[in-house]
Amino acid sequence: MQPFDCLTENDKEIVRQWCINYGNAEPQSIEKILATWNKNKRTLFRAFGRKLQISFPIHQKVNSSYRHSKWRNLYSPFIIYDKNDLQNFKYDPRNHIFINDLVEWMRDDLIDILPVSMLKGILEYTKYCYVETGKTNDDKCFAGGAKGKVLKIPKGTKIMRAIRKVLEYYSFPHMDSFNEWRDDISVINTDKEINAELVLSINPVDFITMSDNRSGWTSCMSWIDNGAYSTGTIEMLNSNVAVVAYLRNPQSFTYNDLDIPNKSWRTLVFVHKDILLVGKHYPYQSEALAKIVLDKVREIVKNTVGWKYHYHNQLYRDMIRSYDNNYVRDKDYFQRLNDGHKIYVYTNIMYHDIIEDHSTDYWCCRNKVKKNLYLNLSGPATCMCCGEPIDKDFTNNFSTSIKYCKDCCDKYYCRGCGLVSVEHFKHKIIFKEKVYGEVYTHYGHPDCIIDNFLWDSKDGYCVAKNRLYDVDKTRYKPLTRERLLFNEVCGSV
Ligand SMILES: [Zn+2]
Ligand SMILES: [Zn+2]
Repeated sequence: MQPFDCLTENDKEIVRQWCINYGNAEPQSIEKILATWNKNKRTLFRAFGRKLQISFPIHQKVNSSYRHSKWRNLYSPFIIYDKNDLQNFKYDPRNHIFINDLVEWMRDDLIDILPVSMLKGILEYTKYCYVETGKTNDDKCFAGGAKGKVLKIPKGTKIMRAIRKVLEYYSFPHMDSFNEWRDDISVINTDKEINAELVLSINPVDFITMSDNRSGWTSCMSWIDNGAYSTGTIEMLNSNVAVVAYLRNPQSFTYNDLDIPNKSWRTLVFVHKDILLVGKHYPYQSEALAKIVLDKVREIVKNTVGWKYHYHNQLYRDMIRSYDNNYVRDKDYFQRLNDGHKIYVYTNIMYHDIIEDHSTDYWCCRNKVKKNLYLNLSGPATCMCCGEPIDKDFTNNFSTSIKYCKDCCDKYYCRGCGLVSVEHFKHKIIFKEKVYGEVYTHYGHPDCIIDNFLWDSKDGYCVAKNRLYDVDKTRYKPLTRERLLFNEVCGSV
Protein backbone atom coordinates (compact mmCIF):
# COMPACT_ATOMS: atom_id res chain seq x y z
CA MET A 1 0.00 0.00 0.00
CA GLN A 2 1.21 3.49 -0.88
CA PRO A 3 0.22 6.87 0.60
CA PHE A 4 -1.87 7.65 -2.48
CA ASP A 5 -4.05 4.58 -1.87
CA CYS A 6 -5.19 6.05 1.46
CA LEU A 7 -6.67 9.22 -0.02
CA THR A 8 -10.46 9.45 0.06
CA GLU A 9 -12.56 10.90 -2.76
CA ASN A 10 -13.24 13.86 -0.47
CA ASP A 11 -9.47 14.45 -0.08
CA LYS A 12 -8.91 14.36 -3.83
CA GLU A 13 -11.79 16.71 -4.49
CA ILE A 14 -10.51 19.26 -1.96
CA VAL A 15 -7.05 19.14 -3.55
CA ARG A 16 -8.58 19.60 -7.00
CA GLN A 17 -10.79 22.52 -5.96
CA TRP A 18 -8.07 24.26 -3.97
CA CYS A 19 -5.74 24.02 -6.98
CA ILE A 20 -8.32 25.49 -9.36
CA ASN A 21 -9.87 28.11 -7.13
CA TYR A 22 -6.90 29.27 -5.09
CA GLY A 23 -3.82 27.94 -6.94
CA ASN A 24 -4.96 28.98 -10.43
CA ALA A 25 -3.89 25.58 -11.72
CA GLU A 26 -6.17 22.82 -12.89
CA PRO A 27 -4.61 19.40 -12.17
CA GLN A 28 -4.23 17.19 -15.24
CA SER A 29 -4.83 14.40 -12.76
CA ILE A 30 -4.61 14.15 -8.98
CA GLU A 31 -2.29 11.17 -9.34
CA LYS A 32 0.14 13.23 -11.43
CA ILE A 33 0.30 16.23 -9.13
CA LEU A 34 0.70 14.04 -6.04
CA ALA A 35 3.29 11.66 -7.54
CA THR A 36 6.25 13.36 -5.81
CA TRP A 37 4.36 13.49 -2.50
CA ASN A 38 3.50 9.81 -2.85
CA LYS A 39 7.17 8.92 -3.40
CA ASN A 40 8.80 11.28 -0.89
CA LYS A 41 6.44 10.57 1.99
CA ARG A 42 6.99 6.81 1.91
CA THR A 43 9.30 6.74 4.92
CA LEU A 44 6.99 8.93 6.99
CA PHE A 45 4.04 6.83 5.84
CA ARG A 46 5.81 3.80 7.24
CA ALA A 47 6.66 5.71 10.42
CA PHE A 48 2.94 6.60 10.73
CA GLY A 49 2.00 2.92 10.61
CA ARG A 50 0.70 3.28 7.02
CA LYS A 51 -1.71 6.06 7.86
CA LEU A 52 -1.99 9.65 6.61
CA GLN A 53 -3.28 11.04 9.88
CA ILE A 54 -2.93 10.13 13.52
CA SER A 55 -5.15 11.92 15.98
CA PHE A 56 -5.65 11.81 19.71
CA PRO A 57 -7.69 13.84 22.21
CA ILE A 58 -6.05 16.40 24.46
CA HIS A 59 -7.41 18.40 27.37
CA GLN A 60 -6.10 21.78 28.29
CA LYS A 61 -7.22 24.74 30.31
CA VAL A 62 -8.42 27.54 28.06
CA ASN A 63 -6.03 30.47 28.01
CA SER A 64 -6.66 33.97 26.72
CA SER A 65 -4.78 33.46 23.43
CA TYR A 66 -6.92 30.44 22.65
CA ARG A 67 -10.07 32.39 23.41
CA HIS A 68 -8.87 35.37 21.46
CA SER A 69 -8.13 33.29 18.36
CA LYS A 70 -11.64 31.85 18.47
CA TRP A 71 -13.12 35.28 18.93
CA ARG A 72 -11.39 36.72 15.91
CA ASN A 73 -13.19 34.29 13.66
CA LEU A 74 -16.57 35.52 14.80
CA TYR A 75 -16.04 39.24 14.40
CA SER A 76 -16.87 40.73 11.11
CA PRO A 77 -13.59 41.10 9.27
CA PHE A 78 -15.48 43.21 6.78
CA ILE A 79 -15.16 46.97 6.63
CA ILE A 80 -17.15 49.22 4.32
CA TYR A 81 -15.57 52.43 3.11
CA ASP A 82 -17.89 52.88 0.17
CA LYS A 83 -20.38 50.82 -1.81
CA ASN A 84 -17.64 49.33 -3.98
CA ASP A 85 -16.39 47.36 -0.98
CA LEU A 86 -19.79 45.74 -0.69
CA GLN A 87 -20.18 45.22 -4.40
CA ASN A 88 -16.81 43.44 -4.57
CA PHE A 89 -17.51 41.20 -1.61
CA LYS A 90 -16.98 37.54 -2.45
CA TYR A 91 -18.15 34.69 -0.27
CA ASP A 92 -15.22 33.69 1.94
CA PRO A 93 -15.33 30.17 3.46
CA ARG A 94 -13.25 31.44 6.40
CA ASN A 95 -16.00 33.74 7.66
CA HIS A 96 -18.74 32.60 9.98
CA ILE A 97 -21.80 31.73 7.91
CA PHE A 98 -23.68 34.60 9.57
CA ILE A 99 -21.08 37.15 8.43
CA ASN A 100 -21.24 35.81 4.87
CA ASP A 101 -25.06 35.84 4.93
CA LEU A 102 -25.11 39.33 6.38
CA VAL A 103 -22.74 40.89 3.88
CA GLU A 104 -24.22 39.05 0.89
CA TRP A 105 -27.68 40.25 1.95
CA MET A 106 -26.48 43.84 2.27
CA ARG A 107 -24.77 43.58 -1.12
CA ASP A 108 -27.77 42.09 -2.93
CA ASP A 109 -30.79 43.57 -1.13
CA LEU A 110 -29.85 46.76 0.67
CA ILE A 111 -27.14 48.36 -1.41
CA ASP A 112 -29.55 50.37 -3.56
CA ILE A 113 -31.88 51.27 -0.71
CA LEU A 114 -29.66 52.42 2.15
CA PRO A 115 -26.91 55.05 2.33
CA VAL A 116 -23.38 53.86 3.15
CA SER A 117 -23.53 55.28 6.67
CA MET A 118 -26.48 53.05 7.46
CA LEU A 119 -24.86 49.96 5.96
CA LYS A 120 -21.77 50.68 8.05
CA GLY A 121 -23.98 51.03 11.09
CA ILE A 122 -25.45 47.55 10.63
CA LEU A 123 -22.02 45.92 10.44
CA GLU A 124 -20.48 47.96 13.21
CA TYR A 125 -22.16 46.12 16.06
CA THR A 126 -20.70 42.79 14.89
CA LYS A 127 -17.18 44.14 15.46
CA TYR A 128 -17.50 44.60 19.20
CA CYS A 129 -15.05 42.36 21.04
CA TYR A 130 -17.45 41.46 23.79
CA VAL A 131 -20.49 41.24 21.63
CA GLU A 132 -22.38 39.04 24.09
CA THR A 133 -21.94 41.07 27.24
CA GLY A 134 -21.02 44.49 25.82
CA LYS A 135 -23.29 47.49 25.34
CA THR A 136 -23.50 50.06 22.54
CA ASN A 137 -21.49 53.22 23.20
CA ASP A 138 -23.60 55.75 21.31
CA ASP A 139 -27.15 56.44 20.11
CA LYS A 140 -27.95 55.23 16.62
CA CYS A 141 -30.93 55.58 14.30
CA PHE A 142 -31.87 53.35 11.40
CA ALA A 143 -34.36 54.22 8.67
CA GLY A 144 -35.84 52.65 5.57
CA GLY A 145 -37.11 49.43 7.15
CA ALA A 146 -40.27 47.70 6.00
CA LYS A 147 -42.50 49.18 8.71
CA GLY A 148 -41.61 52.74 7.81
CA LYS A 149 -40.87 53.96 11.33
CA VAL A 150 -37.36 54.99 12.38
CA LEU A 151 -35.57 52.48 14.60
CA LYS A 152 -33.72 54.02 17.54
CA ILE A 153 -31.01 52.09 19.35
CA PRO A 154 -30.03 54.09 22.43
CA LYS A 155 -26.57 54.10 23.97
CA GLY A 156 -26.18 51.29 26.51
CA THR A 157 -28.28 48.71 24.64
CA LYS A 158 -26.87 45.19 24.87
CA ILE A 159 -24.96 44.50 21.65
CA MET A 160 -26.67 41.21 20.91
CA ARG A 161 -30.07 42.82 21.38
CA ALA A 162 -29.08 45.77 19.16
CA ILE A 163 -28.05 43.45 16.34
CA ARG A 164 -31.24 41.44 16.59
CA LYS A 165 -33.38 44.61 16.50
CA VAL A 166 -31.61 45.97 13.43
CA LEU A 167 -31.84 42.65 11.57
CA GLU A 168 -35.54 42.31 12.37
CA TYR A 169 -36.18 45.91 11.39
CA TYR A 170 -34.78 45.26 7.90
CA SER A 171 -36.35 41.74 7.69
CA PHE A 172 -33.01 39.90 7.48
CA PRO A 173 -33.91 36.53 5.88
CA HIS A 174 -31.29 34.38 7.67
CA MET A 175 -32.15 34.67 11.35
CA ASP A 176 -31.14 31.02 11.85
CA SER A 177 -27.52 31.82 10.93
CA PHE A 178 -27.66 34.77 13.34
CA ASN A 179 -28.84 32.41 16.10
CA GLU A 180 -26.02 30.02 15.29
CA TRP A 181 -23.51 32.86 15.54
CA ARG A 182 -24.91 33.96 18.91
CA ASP A 183 -24.70 30.37 20.22
CA ASP A 184 -21.12 29.94 18.98
CA ILE A 185 -20.10 33.09 20.80
CA SER A 186 -21.75 31.98 23.97
CA VAL A 187 -19.89 28.63 23.83
CA ILE A 188 -16.51 30.40 23.62
CA ASN A 189 -17.26 32.43 26.72
CA THR A 190 -18.20 29.42 28.79
CA ASP A 191 -15.42 27.06 27.55
CA LYS A 192 -13.09 26.29 30.43
CA GLU A 193 -11.19 23.43 28.85
CA ILE A 194 -10.07 22.63 25.36
CA ASN A 195 -11.29 19.18 24.55
CA ALA A 196 -9.63 19.11 21.23
CA GLU A 197 -8.22 16.65 18.81
CA LEU A 198 -4.52 16.95 18.11
CA VAL A 199 -3.75 15.70 14.61
CA LEU A 200 -0.45 14.68 13.05
CA SER A 201 -0.83 14.56 9.31
CA ILE A 202 0.95 13.84 6.04
CA ASN A 203 -2.31 14.19 4.10
CA PRO A 204 -1.96 16.58 1.10
CA VAL A 205 -5.17 18.35 2.17
CA ASP A 206 -3.50 19.46 5.40
CA PHE A 207 -0.42 20.76 3.61
CA ILE A 208 -2.24 22.90 1.07
CA THR A 209 -4.71 24.22 3.66
CA MET A 210 -2.12 24.56 6.43
CA SER A 211 -2.91 28.28 6.81
CA ASP A 212 -6.49 28.30 5.55
CA ASN A 213 -9.14 27.88 8.22
CA ARG A 214 -12.24 29.21 9.86
CA SER A 215 -10.42 29.87 13.12
CA GLY A 216 -9.55 33.50 12.51
CA TRP A 217 -5.88 33.41 11.49
CA THR A 218 -3.76 33.22 8.36
CA SER A 219 -0.08 33.34 7.34
CA CYS A 220 2.12 33.81 4.27
CA MET A 221 1.46 30.12 3.49
CA SER A 222 -2.26 30.67 2.85
CA TRP A 223 -3.59 29.70 -0.58
CA ILE A 224 -6.81 31.67 -0.12
CA ASP A 225 -4.79 34.86 0.39
CA ASN A 226 -2.25 33.83 -2.26
CA GLY A 227 0.27 34.22 0.59
CA ALA A 228 3.70 35.56 -0.35
CA TYR A 229 5.48 32.25 0.38
CA SER A 230 2.64 29.87 -0.34
CA THR A 231 4.69 27.86 -2.87
CA GLY A 232 6.35 26.70 0.36
CA THR A 233 3.31 24.57 1.18
CA ILE A 234 4.18 22.44 -1.87
CA GLU A 235 7.79 22.10 -0.66
CA MET A 236 6.42 20.86 2.65
CA LEU A 237 3.93 18.58 0.86
CA ASN A 238 6.81 16.95 -1.02
CA SER A 239 9.31 17.02 1.84
CA ASN A 240 10.44 13.67 3.19
CA VAL A 241 10.56 15.01 6.75
CA ALA A 242 7.65 17.49 7.10
CA VAL A 243 4.50 16.67 9.06
CA VAL A 244 1.61 19.06 9.80
CA ALA A 245 0.53 19.07 13.44
CA TYR A 246 -2.64 20.90 14.47
CA LEU A 247 -5.53 21.22 16.84
CA ARG A 248 -8.72 20.46 15.03
CA ASN A 249 -11.43 22.99 15.77
CA PRO A 250 -14.75 21.12 16.14
CA GLN A 251 -16.45 23.99 14.33
CA SER A 252 -16.66 22.97 10.68
CA PHE A 253 -14.83 24.60 7.80
CA THR A 254 -16.63 23.73 4.60
CA TYR A 255 -16.07 24.65 1.01
CA ASN A 256 -18.66 23.65 -1.59
CA ASP A 257 -19.94 21.05 0.89
CA LEU A 258 -16.44 19.58 1.32
CA ASP A 259 -15.26 19.28 4.89
CA ILE A 260 -11.75 20.62 5.54
CA PRO A 261 -10.00 20.13 8.89
CA ASN A 262 -10.36 23.49 10.64
CA LYS A 263 -7.02 24.29 12.25
CA SER A 264 -7.21 26.46 15.35
CA TRP A 265 -3.50 25.96 16.10
CA ARG A 266 -0.90 24.63 13.68
CA THR A 267 2.78 23.93 13.40
CA LEU A 268 5.13 21.85 11.25
CA VAL A 269 7.16 19.09 12.83
CA PHE A 270 10.20 17.73 11.02
CA VAL A 271 10.72 14.04 11.59
CA HIS A 272 14.16 12.57 10.93
CA LYS A 273 15.93 9.63 12.57
CA ASP A 274 18.35 12.00 14.32
CA ILE A 275 16.03 14.90 15.12
CA LEU A 276 12.38 15.75 15.77
CA LEU A 277 12.05 19.49 15.38
CA VAL A 278 8.94 21.63 15.91
CA GLY A 279 8.73 24.85 13.84
CA LYS A 280 6.90 28.07 14.60
CA HIS A 281 3.32 27.84 15.85
CA TYR A 282 0.33 29.68 14.42
CA PRO A 283 -1.55 31.70 15.55
CA TYR A 284 0.04 31.51 19.04
CA GLN A 285 3.09 29.88 20.61
CA SER A 286 2.49 27.06 23.07
CA GLU A 287 5.38 25.29 24.73
CA ALA A 288 2.94 22.78 26.20
CA LEU A 289 1.52 21.81 22.82
CA ALA A 290 5.00 21.59 21.24
CA LYS A 291 6.02 19.12 23.94
CA ILE A 292 2.84 17.09 23.53
CA VAL A 293 3.58 16.87 19.79
CA LEU A 294 7.16 15.75 20.44
CA ASP A 295 6.12 13.14 23.01
CA LYS A 296 3.54 11.71 20.67
CA VAL A 297 5.76 11.61 17.58
CA ARG A 298 8.59 10.07 19.60
CA GLU A 299 6.31 7.33 20.84
CA ILE A 300 4.93 6.63 17.36
CA VAL A 301 8.26 6.38 15.50
CA LYS A 302 9.77 4.26 18.25
CA ASN A 303 6.99 1.72 17.81
CA THR A 304 6.83 1.74 14.02
CA VAL A 305 10.37 2.25 12.70
CA GLY A 306 12.40 1.97 15.90
CA TRP A 307 13.84 5.52 15.85
CA LYS A 308 15.07 6.67 19.26
CA TYR A 309 16.31 10.02 20.53
CA HIS A 310 18.83 10.46 23.26
CA TYR A 311 17.83 14.01 24.25
CA HIS A 312 14.15 14.83 24.81
CA ASN A 313 12.23 18.13 24.54
CA GLN A 314 15.18 20.50 24.39
CA LEU A 315 15.40 23.98 22.93
CA TYR A 316 16.90 23.84 19.45
CA ARG A 317 19.70 26.41 19.27
CA ASP A 318 21.97 25.24 16.45
CA MET A 319 20.87 28.01 14.09
CA ILE A 320 20.97 30.77 16.67
CA ARG A 321 23.67 32.70 14.80
CA SER A 322 22.21 32.20 11.33
CA TYR A 323 20.11 34.94 9.86
CA ASP A 324 19.95 34.11 6.20
CA ASN A 325 18.58 31.02 4.55
CA ASN A 326 20.86 31.61 1.53
CA TYR A 327 23.99 31.21 3.66
CA VAL A 328 22.73 28.02 5.20
CA ARG A 329 22.01 26.48 1.83
CA ASP A 330 25.70 26.98 1.08
CA LYS A 331 27.06 23.83 2.68
CA ASP A 332 30.67 24.86 2.14
CA TYR A 333 30.16 27.88 4.32
CA PHE A 334 28.95 25.74 7.16
CA GLN A 335 31.53 23.04 6.72
CA ARG A 336 34.17 25.66 7.36
CA LEU A 337 32.65 26.17 10.79
CA ASN A 338 34.55 23.51 12.61
CA ASP A 339 31.97 22.54 15.19
CA GLY A 340 31.34 18.95 14.36
CA HIS A 341 28.03 17.81 15.82
CA LYS A 342 25.39 20.33 14.83
CA ILE A 343 22.20 19.77 12.91
CA TYR A 344 21.65 22.55 10.39
CA VAL A 345 18.30 22.91 8.71
CA TYR A 346 17.39 24.92 5.62
CA THR A 347 14.56 25.25 3.11
CA ASN A 348 14.44 25.89 -0.64
CA ILE A 349 12.46 29.01 -1.40
CA MET A 350 10.12 28.82 1.57
CA TYR A 351 10.29 31.49 4.25
CA HIS A 352 12.33 29.86 6.99
CA ASP A 353 11.09 30.84 10.45
CA ILE A 354 13.79 28.91 12.28
CA ILE A 355 16.45 31.13 10.73
CA GLU A 356 14.55 34.36 10.26
CA ASP A 357 12.70 34.50 13.58
CA HIS A 358 14.91 34.12 16.63
CA SER A 359 12.36 35.50 19.07
CA THR A 360 10.49 32.20 18.93
CA ASP A 361 11.45 29.07 20.86
CA TYR A 362 11.92 25.90 18.82
CA TRP A 363 11.74 22.57 20.61
CA CYS A 364 13.34 19.28 19.58
CA CYS A 365 14.33 15.74 20.47
CA ARG A 366 17.71 14.72 19.06
CA ASN A 367 20.70 12.47 18.93
CA LYS A 368 24.34 13.46 18.96
CA VAL A 369 25.40 13.23 15.31
CA LYS A 370 28.90 12.01 14.44
CA LYS A 371 29.47 14.99 12.15
CA ASN A 372 27.46 18.04 11.09
CA LEU A 373 24.15 17.11 9.56
CA TYR A 374 22.71 19.35 6.84
CA LEU A 375 19.04 18.71 6.65
CA ASN A 376 16.92 20.12 3.85
CA LEU A 377 13.41 20.49 5.26
CA SER A 378 11.94 21.08 1.78
CA GLY A 379 11.01 18.79 -1.03
CA PRO A 380 10.81 20.08 -4.59
CA ALA A 381 8.00 22.50 -5.38
CA THR A 382 6.00 20.83 -8.12
CA CYS A 383 3.42 22.07 -10.61
CA MET A 384 -0.21 21.60 -9.56
CA CYS A 385 -1.13 21.31 -13.24
CA CYS A 386 1.35 18.73 -14.62
CA GLY A 387 3.23 17.52 -11.52
CA GLU A 388 6.72 18.35 -12.82
CA PRO A 389 9.15 20.39 -10.69
CA ILE A 390 8.77 24.17 -10.80
CA ASP A 391 12.04 25.75 -11.88
CA LYS A 392 13.67 27.72 -9.04
CA ASP A 393 14.42 30.69 -11.32
CA PHE A 394 10.76 30.85 -12.23
CA THR A 395 9.67 31.16 -8.59
CA ASN A 396 12.51 33.53 -7.72
CA ASN A 397 11.93 35.84 -10.68
CA PHE A 398 8.22 35.58 -10.89
CA SER A 399 6.57 34.80 -7.59
CA THR A 400 7.11 32.72 -4.48
CA SER A 401 3.38 32.05 -4.40
CA ILE A 402 3.19 30.37 -7.81
CA LYS A 403 1.58 26.90 -8.01
CA TYR A 404 2.40 25.97 -11.62
CA CYS A 405 5.52 25.56 -13.77
CA LYS A 406 6.83 27.82 -16.52
CA ASP A 407 6.01 25.28 -19.21
CA CYS A 408 2.35 25.07 -18.22
CA CYS A 409 2.20 28.83 -17.80
CA ASP A 410 3.55 29.38 -21.33
CA LYS A 411 1.17 26.86 -22.82
CA TYR A 412 -2.04 27.04 -20.80
CA TYR A 413 -2.31 30.41 -19.05
CA CYS A 414 -5.57 32.27 -19.70
CA ARG A 415 -5.10 36.02 -19.90
CA GLY A 416 -8.70 36.52 -18.84
CA CYS A 417 -9.18 34.48 -15.67
CA GLY A 418 -5.55 33.64 -14.87
CA LEU A 419 -6.22 29.88 -14.71
CA VAL A 420 -3.62 27.44 -16.05
CA SER A 421 -5.68 24.64 -17.52
CA VAL A 422 -5.13 22.11 -20.29
CA GLU A 423 -8.80 21.24 -20.44
CA HIS A 424 -10.03 24.78 -20.91
CA PHE A 425 -7.38 25.47 -23.50
CA LYS A 426 -9.02 23.11 -25.91
CA HIS A 427 -11.27 26.11 -26.46
CA LYS A 428 -8.81 28.94 -26.64
CA ILE A 429 -8.76 32.05 -28.71
CA ILE A 430 -5.86 34.28 -29.54
CA PHE A 431 -6.41 37.88 -28.72
CA LYS A 432 -4.18 40.59 -30.09
CA GLU A 433 -4.10 43.94 -28.46
CA LYS A 434 -2.68 47.13 -29.90
CA VAL A 435 -1.25 49.48 -27.30
CA TYR A 436 0.52 52.62 -28.53
CA GLY A 437 1.01 50.95 -31.88
CA GLU A 438 2.64 47.80 -30.37
CA VAL A 439 0.76 44.54 -30.83
CA TYR A 440 0.60 42.10 -27.90
CA THR A 441 -0.70 38.55 -28.21
CA HIS A 442 -2.71 36.94 -25.43
CA TYR A 443 -4.37 33.58 -25.15
CA GLY A 444 -7.51 32.85 -23.25
CA HIS A 445 -10.84 31.16 -22.97
CA PRO A 446 -13.41 32.94 -25.12
CA ASP A 447 -15.74 33.63 -22.21
CA CYS A 448 -12.97 34.95 -19.99
CA ILE A 449 -11.64 37.25 -22.67
CA ILE A 450 -15.07 38.67 -23.24
CA ASP A 451 -15.91 38.98 -19.56
CA ASN A 452 -12.64 40.23 -18.14
CA PHE A 453 -10.57 41.76 -20.82
CA LEU A 454 -12.07 42.72 -24.10
CA TRP A 455 -14.08 45.69 -23.06
CA ASP A 456 -11.18 47.36 -21.33
CA SER A 457 -9.31 47.48 -24.57
CA LYS A 458 -10.04 50.50 -26.66
CA ASP A 459 -7.74 49.73 -29.51
CA GLY A 460 -7.39 46.03 -30.19
CA TYR A 461 -8.35 43.28 -32.51
CA CYS A 462 -8.78 39.56 -32.28
CA VAL A 463 -7.34 36.97 -34.64
CA ALA A 464 -8.96 33.61 -35.09
CA LYS A 465 -8.79 31.22 -38.00
CA ASN A 466 -6.58 33.85 -39.58
CA ARG A 467 -9.49 36.21 -39.66
CA LEU A 468 -9.20 39.53 -38.04
CA TYR A 469 -11.86 40.84 -35.69
CA ASP A 470 -11.90 44.36 -34.44
CA VAL A 471 -12.71 44.64 -30.80
CA ASP A 472 -13.85 48.16 -31.01
CA LYS A 473 -16.34 48.50 -28.16
CA THR A 474 -19.11 50.31 -29.93
CA ARG A 475 -18.97 48.25 -33.04
CA TYR A 476 -18.97 44.74 -31.64
CA LYS A 477 -20.70 44.96 -28.31
CA PRO A 478 -24.08 43.68 -29.53
CA LEU A 479 -22.41 40.83 -31.39
CA THR A 480 -20.18 39.58 -28.59
CA ARG A 481 -22.88 39.85 -26.01
CA GLU A 482 -24.77 37.18 -27.85
CA ARG A 483 -21.52 35.26 -28.31
CA LEU A 484 -21.99 35.22 -32.09
CA LEU A 485 -18.51 36.35 -32.88
CA PHE A 486 -16.72 34.03 -30.49
CA ASN A 487 -18.80 30.90 -30.83
CA GLU A 488 -17.49 30.76 -34.33
CA VAL A 489 -13.89 30.38 -33.22
CA CYS A 490 -14.18 28.14 -30.18
CA GLY A 491 -11.84 25.20 -30.23
CA SER A 492 -10.40 25.85 -33.60
CA VAL A 493 -7.35 28.05 -33.26
ZN1 LIG B 1 3.39 22.19 -15.19
ZN1 LIG C 1 -10.07 31.80 -18.53
